[in-house]
Amino acid sequence: MKSKITLRLTILMVIFGFVLIVSQSYSLRENGTTNAITKANAIAEIVKSGLTAHMVNGNMDQRGVFLDSISKTENIKKIWIIRGENVVRQYGKSTKNDFPKDKLDKQTLNSGKLQYKINDHLSSATLRVTIPYNATDESSLNCMQCHDVKYGDTLGAVSIVFDISDIKEAGINNIIVTSLITFFATIIIIIMLNRLLKPYLETLEILNDRIDSATNGVFKNITLNNKLPSEAEKLIINYNDLTDSLMETFQEIDDKLKSFVGGTSTVTTSNNPLAESKEIITNLSYLYEFKNQIQLDKDKSEIYSRLGEIFKNQFNINYINILEIDDFTKVTKVYEHGGLDYCSKSIIENPDNCRVSRNASDVCSIFFQKACKYFTNDNYLYYCMDIEIGKSSKLIFNFIFLNEDELTEFKYNLPFIESYIKEVAPEISSKILFQALEDSALRDGLTGLYNRRFLDEHLKKLIPQATREKMNIGMLMLDMDHFKAVNDEYGHDIGDKVLQEFARVVLENVRDSDMVIRYGGEEFIVLLVGVKDEADTLTVANKIREKVAENEVDVYAGSTMRKTISIGVSMFPEDSTNFTTIMKYADLALYEAKDLGRNQVIRYSENKNDTLELF
Ligand code: GH3
Ligand code: MG
Ligand code: MG
Repeated sequence: MKSKITLRLTILMVIFGFVLIVSQSYSLRENGTTNAITKANAIAEIVKSGLTAHMVNGNMDQRGVFLDSISKTENIKKIWIIRGENVVRQYGKSTKNDFPKDKLDKQTLNSGKLQYKINDHLSSATLRVTIPYNATDESSLNCMQCHDVKYGDTLGAVSIVFDISDIKEAGINNIIVTSLITFFATIIIIIMLNRLLKPYLETLEILNDRIDSATNGVFKNITLNNKLPSEAEKLIINYNDLTDSLMETFQEIDDKLKSFVGGTSTVTTSNNPLAESKEIITNLSYLYEFKNQIQLDKDKSEIYSRLGEIFKNQFNINYINILEIDDFTKVTKVYEHGGLDYCSKSIIENPDNCRVSRNASDVCSIFFQKACKYFTNDNYLYYCMDIEIGKSSKLIFNFIFLNEDELTEFKYNLPFIESYIKEVAPEISSKILFQALEDSALRDGLTGLYNRRFLDEHLKKLIPQATREKMNIGMLMLDMDHFKAVNDEYGHDIGDKVLQEFARVVLENVRDSDMVIRYGGEEFIVLLVGVKDEADTLTVANKIREKVAENEVDVYAGSTMRKTISIGVSMFPEDSTNFTTIMKYADLALYEAKDLGRNQVIRYSENKNDTLELF
């Protein structure tokens, strides 16, 4: 920077010197020329007076002597006179050498005005000037007395060649002196300015260097030295204060941000607090957006998919398995990506096989490939972690990597990955609770079967679907025979137990696609969805009736009991396309079964049941 300033200053001084020299030389030359012309005019006047005197005295032939004496005047190199055309016309051509010698002479005679020209040579310079004699009628000199001319006509001229070498010499001397003065002045100014500017320039250079490092996140103070001028010292003190306060603020921001993403863990490897904070803030804003989104998600599976997308897209994890462990016993795989899975099966068999689940601390294969013996492929690396959801459930995350680089990148992102998982846990927990709440509204607390409310809701979808797909539904209305007696004899608890057993036996003897509903008290409905025909329906109904009748229920130590049931059967859409009617028909058939002595299955038939006045 210093050399740049010196160079610019030198150029400036050279330009200044040059302008000075040119302007001085010009004015010197102009002055010299003007002086010479003034002198020429005076000489011309003298010549004119001399010639007039010669003319009046009649000794014009002596004028050569006169002119010779004048030409001896200092700096006059040559002098001659020229006779104008008017005089030639009146007196004829002179025998002397007084005709125009050159262009300048002719121009003067023609124009009646002074003409001059400067001739520059290497070592000398001359001013060639021609001054006209124009006819006047002044009292002392009336030209028209002797000359046959009009006022103002040009009678002749005098040409003089002046040596103006002294002006040129003075100009050259001036250039030399001015150049020397400029040169020394430049050196002195540069030295002085250098001395004056040095500390400022050095301070600027250090500042520039520090600002460069600050841009890369390295904030360093500048050491003060006592040679600095007060302004530079103040600048440095201000810069140091600014750096200190920025460092403090960044450190605070950094600490606070880090606390968001997991205590003291380092999230980035860079030493640039600015870049680090920016990266953390970007990730936090994604995390915040993610948190908002999962709150709006419909169910757990949507949340798992969203989390999986983040793992894939944001953290480049290619192989992911997520397992949900309910009540610490039931394991379900809730998400997978990439198609690699080397441990879920053994965890589903026994959740205790999962090392993470057992110890509640992360398991990583980077140091011990066999960190978990249930991960059955030694070619891959893995990292497993878990998180509790509510009081009795947890999630297991199994991330698989093809090489150490992938695992290193994963560990680098771990604080954020953990943050996402921490955000997910309470949402999954609330979704589980909500699901349970919804289930409890639609299920019967005693038997776990669907309740009447569920039936009403479900029928809204089932009937249009069955109609569309021309599907049969077998409707069984079940009622325990003389159940009241159980309550009366053994009490309500045993009564409840008998009902639970009844429900279990019914569930065991229907397909998964069939529906078992506790309709009320000890009345149950079974819907055989998509059953082939009436015969199949009756077969299933009888099978249920037999199995219930065979089932022994412990009533108290060493004592068991068996109960029978009666079943009324109707068919959709065979009997009616209106489901309320179908239910009424099944109920009618059930009453008939009771009527006929219980423990039997009765198919509704129009003829048989129309005599019963039950509604
Ligand atoms: P039948 O159907 O053979 O004509 O005789 P029943 O004795 O079964 O007669 P009914 O259907 O009228 O009796 C139903 C009894 O079931 C009445 C009620 O006290 C009892 N009950 C209903 N819900 C429950 C329950 O949740 N637990 C227990 N323990 N008993 C119940
Ligand atoms: Mg009954
Ligand atoms: Mg009943």
